[in-house]
Amino acid sequence: MSVSGLCQICESRPAQERCDNCGTLACMEHYERGMGLCADCVARADPGRDSDDVDVHRF
Ligand SMILES: [Zn+2]
Ligand SMILES: [Zn+2]
Repeated sequence: MSVSGLCQICESRPAQERCDNCGTLACMEHYERGMGLCADCVARADPGRDSDDVDVHRF
């Protein structure tokens, strides 16, 4: 399924997909097909985001 409009992240390429999470239109560069998420949400949903917690491991 294709969408019309510009990628809302880079605003320079035609959008190819719509983020399942936030609905942002994203071009192929800013859409993670495997996850169905835009680059913004991928960054937030990053499984290795231990840094989300307080920096308890910091010296
Ligand atoms: Zn883009
Ligand atoms: Zn998103």
